[in-house]
Amino acid sequence: MNRSANTDNWRLRLQLGVGRLFFKHLRPNTFSPGTHQNPVFTSLGWVVGVIVACGIFVINSETHTDWAPTILYITLLLMAANLFSISVVITVAVFCIGLLTALYVYNGGYHQWSSTTGYFRCLTALSAITFLAVRSKHAADCLRQNEAYLLGAQRLSQTGSIGFHGDSETMTWSDESARIFEYPLHVTPTTSLVLARIHPEDQLLARAVFAQAARHQPQIEIKLRLRMPDERIKHIHMIATALSSHQGRTEYLGAIMDVTASKQAEEALFHARTQLAHVTRVTSLGELAASIAHEVNQPLTAITSSGEACRRWLERPQPDLKEALDSLDRIVASACRASDIISRIRAMSRKCDPLRQRQSLDDIVSESLCLVRQEISHHGISPKVELAAGAGLVNVDRVQLQQVIINLIINACHAMEVVGVGQRILHVRSWISADEVVLEVADQGPGISAEVLPSLFNPFFTTKEKGLGMGLSICRSIIDFHGGRIWATSTVGQGASLRFALPLQDATP
Ligand code: ADP
Repeated sequence: MNRSANTDNWRLRLQLGVGRLFFKHLRPNTFSPGTHQNPVFTSLGWVVGVIVACGIFVINSETHTDWAPTILYITLLLMAANLFSISVVITVAVFCIGLLTALYVYNGGYHQWSSTTGYFRCLTALSAITFLAVRSKHAADCLRQNEAYLLGAQRLSQTGSIGFHGDSETMTWSDESARIFEYPLHVTPTTSLVLARIHPEDQLLARAVFAQAARHQPQIEIKLRLRMPDERIKHIHMIATALSSHQGRTEYLGAIMDVTASKQAEEALFHARTQLAHVTRVTSLGELAASIAHEVNQPLTAITSSGEACRRWLERPQPDLKEALDSLDRIVASACRASDIISRIRAMSRKCDPLRQRQSLDDIVSESLCLVRQEISHHGISPKVELAAGAGLVNVDRVQLQQVIINLIINACHAMEVVGVGQRILHVRSWISADEVVLEVADQGPGISAEVLPSLFNPFFTTKEKGLGMGLSICRSIIDFHGGRIWATSTVGQGASLRFALPLQDATP
């Protein structure tokens, strides 16, 4: 025991440092779930570890160093190489302390004061080194485990991380980001590589992100499309936060999420809703067939009678051309009305994607009333229409909104079947309230009970014998799609009021 503990400590640290330096780069993360340990790295780690351990053994044998510290050095070196676990190191440390003590007793070291102090110094050094090594190994393992969890979470959530500056070509990214952009994991990320994957139509948006970063904006959020070399389209959502500013450059850390699957699901849902809306629209058109036939028949009857009148004016001994021309004007006007009704019905029955345009809500309400006028009078209902939102424009798909209004009116007509004809009054009112245009369809029916109100807009909720229960549910999805809200209020016995509100649009083109 002729070496001081300080020298041992220094040498051990040096060996540990060299070992870490060697193996940090030679050995991949042992905790990464899903990432395969490279067998070449593992074998190389073992080979280098064993060579360095043999080297220490030879040097220590030549310099007649004690066995116990030598064994511990070698163990700690191999631990630094990530080849030994904490439990192996503790076992070896306990063994070394035992060996040291046995040699001390066997050599009768306790007879000499200097040997005893040397023994305790060495014991303290061994214990301290073991403790520090185990603690550092534990911290390193935890770090690796956390990193592995982070990588696993990134993989599962398809969210990668990215680091960039506004004015620099170089970037950093995680493996998952490389996967999202579909570059090999070893490729060094650059802004050019990122821009090469951005969809041509979103290039300006992407460049705006780097411009925002150059202006040191605290937070940047963007949704973009990527176009892969095989023409596949991906949708990504990125949120980046400014981390630190150094010498006028701000570093950003961002999270990039591949939202392609949810975007596709959203589109499929939208498509399914549009189709469902179409089916129910056609169904209600079928229910309205008699009323529609009547609506179309009216102008046709007018055309026939005006035609006959025109013939009579012309057949006179002295043809009255003025009266004949007036009759012809009436024929043209009635034909236009009939063609108008038919084109509205065709629009309602056509299957097409919603087309939103800025238009007057009151115009749409008037057109819808026209289609159900006969249905209303067939039920013996007196309509009271007060359209006061004339200047209020809404950004809507005309046909879809007509579907909502017709649905609300038909429901009101059905509800009033149980009350006396004299009490059947239908109120259709519109007005502008703050930044919304509101439409109300109110009836004098039996009303809706408080228990039923919360489930009114649920799919398949119906109290009618032949009801489907999809009408109000579709109304709500249409109004939601247009950024509005729909709700019902009712006092039992005094009727129900169904209202929807849509965002008011700016009148300036
Ligand atoms: P359906 O008409 O096929 O039943 P809806 O979704 O249009 O489907 O309506 C769901 C239910 O809401 C109706 O069955 C009825 O009970 C209730 N309801 C809707 N409008 C009114 C109303 N104006 N008055 C009373 N109940 C109504």
